[in-house]
Amino acid sequence: MVISKFDVRDPIFHDEDAARAHMETQLWPHGPSCPRCGVLGDRITKMQGKSLRPGVYNCKDCRKPFSVTVGTVMERSHIPLTKWLLSTYFMMTAKKSMSAKNLQRLIGTSYEAAWFLFHRLREIPLHSDSGPLGGVNKVVEADETYIGGKESNKHKSKRQSGRQGGKGKAAVFSLIERDGYVRSFHVAKVDSQILKSIIRKHADSASFFMTDDSRLYPKIGEGFAGHGTVNHSAEEYVKLGGFLHTNTIEGFFALVKRGVYGQFHSVSEAHLARYLAEFDFRHNARHMTDLDRANALLRGAKGKRLMYRQPDQAATA
Ligand SMILES: [Zn+2]
Repeated sequence: MVISKFDVRDPIFHDEDAARAHMETQLWPHGPSCPRCGVLGDRITKMQGKSLRPGVYNCKDCRKPFSVTVGTVMERSHIPLTKWLLSTYFMMTAKKSMSAKNLQRLIGTSYEAAWFLFHRLREIPLHSDSGPLGGVNKVVEADETYIGGKESNKHKSKRQSGRQGGKGKAAVFSLIERDGYVRSFHVAKVDSQILKSIIRKHADSASFFMTDDSRLYPKIGEGFAGHGTVNHSAEEYVKLGGFLHTNTIEGFFALVKRGVYGQFHSVSEAHLARYLAEFDFRHNARHMTDLDRANALLRGAKGKRLMYRQPDQAATA
């Protein structure tokens, strides 16, 4: 089943068979494949019988049955697939995210189930890196911010103190390629050693590196093709004909904060990495239609189940 646009009246959101068929189309574009060995085609048989639930296949090599949710964040969930799909589409269409409370009302589950659904979905993009950001003739902006505690109402003086101190708040560091992807990290603290190891791994040194004038960055910046800085405290936001700025990353942080304070009021440090993964994913898929973005998230659900079991850790590398 292929739908062409997001419409809550579509059967995939109301009928379990249609929902499963949609998942199969997204996760198995070349037909059912075994989640254990990856085999396709005539090594796979569809299992049929009155006692069997539909959507069960068997791998002749592994001799084990499977369905489309095996090996995904949805495996062994008692929540109907139709609700998983609705949750995915709601999350992917809400620019500033959506609270579990809101989802609960929309899909008619308990608060706990809604919370669980969203957090599992946030697991999907959490660990999927794909090479460093930037490259030749590309600009990578870097910045850190603090999330949590009381919203500072965005007054400039408060923002400044937040930037430098961040007491009682969680530290977030992001790298963003201008006109490209973003990658965010919940860091244990903001110091040059931690930031350096992230930057070395996630930003291509052939890029032009762009930061504020924090003392954290000059040394790290030497490793890049170039390093530009702006001085926020001097109201110096954009210079050199509009080239030297960190507006891209500032805008991203503003969106994350509007989401966190507007939807969630606060975010526990234990879950921050997952919220960041959600915002990163929406930013990175911003040029897609709502439907394509949601389907892209669904396709990423494959092979993510084991990762969910790992303990939360603030990124240090
Ligand atoms: Zn197999």
